[in-house]
Amino acid sequence: MAETHVIAGAGLAGAKAAEALRAEGFEGRIVLVGDEPELPYERPPLSKDYLRGEAPREQARVHPEAFYAEHDIDLLTGTAVTALDAAARSVTLSSGETLGYDRLLLATGSEPRRLSVPGAELDGVLHLRTFADSDAIAAALRPGARAVIAGGGWIGMEVAASARQKGLEVTVAELAATPLEAALGREAGEIYARLHREHGVDVRTGVAVERVEGEGRVERVVLADGSALDADLLVAGLGAIPRTALAERAGLAVENGVVCDASLRTSDPDVFAAGDIANAEHPFYGRRLRVEHWANALHQPEVAARAMLGKPASYDRLPYFFSDQYDVGMEFRGLPFGYDDLEIRGDADRYEFVAYWRREGRTLAAMNVNVWDVGDAIEEEILSRAI
Ligand SMILES: Cc1cc2nc3c(=O)[nH]c(=O)nc-3n(C[C@H](O)[C@H](O)[C@H](O)COP(=O)(O)OP(=O)(O)OC[C@H]3O[C@@H](n4cnc5c(N)ncnc54)[C@H](O)[C@@H]3O)c2cc1C
Repeated sequence: MAETHVIAGAGLAGAKAAEALRAEGFEGRIVLVGDEPELPYERPPLSKDYLRGEAPREQARVHPEAFYAEHDIDLLTGTAVTALDAAARSVTLSSGETLGYDRLLLATGSEPRRLSVPGAELDGVLHLRTFADSDAIAAALRPGARAVIAGGGWIGMEVAASARQKGLEVTVAELAATPLEAALGREAGEIYARLHREHGVDVRTGVAVERVEGEGRVERVVLADGSALDADLLVAGLGAIPRTALAERAGLAVENGVVCDASLRTSDPDVFAAGDIANAEHPFYGRRLRVEHWANALHQPEVAARAMLGKPASYDRLPYFFSDQYDVGMEFRGLPFGYDDLEIRGDADRYEFVAYWRREGRTLAAMNVNVWDVGDAIEEEILSRAI
């Protein structure tokens, strides 16, 4: 009998895994199960051009609608995988159906960390992960409206940029000393703080949102330093949490995501994981990494698919991500943690530079900002473990 491979989660990683299974020659049944009522889509546009109404929904799709039938992929949208029985090699679906599998890929992604202060339940307090979330924020992006962004991470800063571009008054409240500090460190984070201030964003640092006030919907946001900001909406960008509930309840090893080896195999030999939820052994770093970025969800599935088919497979790409804010685009490669030196080559004042994070003279990571075609050289430099 033909084998059945099931993919739980129909985001970028899930859809690319279905594609890769076919590309690797798998001829059995592929069932791709997603709880959103959508064809699989990519999320980066949701805080950028799609949010601003500058790009159509279809552009974010991983594949055109016809792709799934053409490749004989059973795509079940609006359907959650509610339980995993690893011993029986079966999953239960929200439709009540039980589905047996030969191999299972977990690609359930992550969900936004929710704002949990008094008033967070008021209308106008919004989070961003899905098309529906982006549509709800877009509806509130009216010129002259006042937005408060809680959290100066990538999503918060991209939403701040989009909201300014739509003519809103924008305040960012970030607990750290500078936006993006967790990702870039203070010095490079400051460059982004300046960029936003130059575009008229009120960037407040070292301060958290303490409560939200209003009659039924947000009217004011009170910060921990006592300042009260009149607001029409609050967007919380507080980071994401991997959706590991299925794996945990099934008894798989879970620690900051689903624990995997370098082939993306979990602690159960027939279950694999890819994308935001995979905390996978990385051969270059010699430890596990969980990467919550688009490129990881794009490329890991090919490795997982090969491993699911019993072929040699190891995921060893360097972490990569990109961000676009106003007319400033950037790419980031590597891991900067533990750096002792930041070198900026180029013109940071004009947002055209490459920044290098180094430790003992060795390049750990680099970010090219409005400078292009330097990615290969940067990767070589990091991989050579030399300057
Ligand atoms: C607004 C936004 C902007 C971003 N911008 C960038 C960017 O500029 N650059 C960058 O590098 N990265 C960016 N990212 C991150 C990137 O989008 C993610 O890393 C990527 O989406 C991860 O893909 P995934 O398939 O692992 O997970 P997801 O995209 O989260 O997809 C998982 C899917 O599985 C579904 N699911 C979960 N549980 C179940 C279940 N039990 N049953 C069925 N289905 C389930 C979810 O609903 C979801 O549809 C952004 C993310 C967001 C939210």
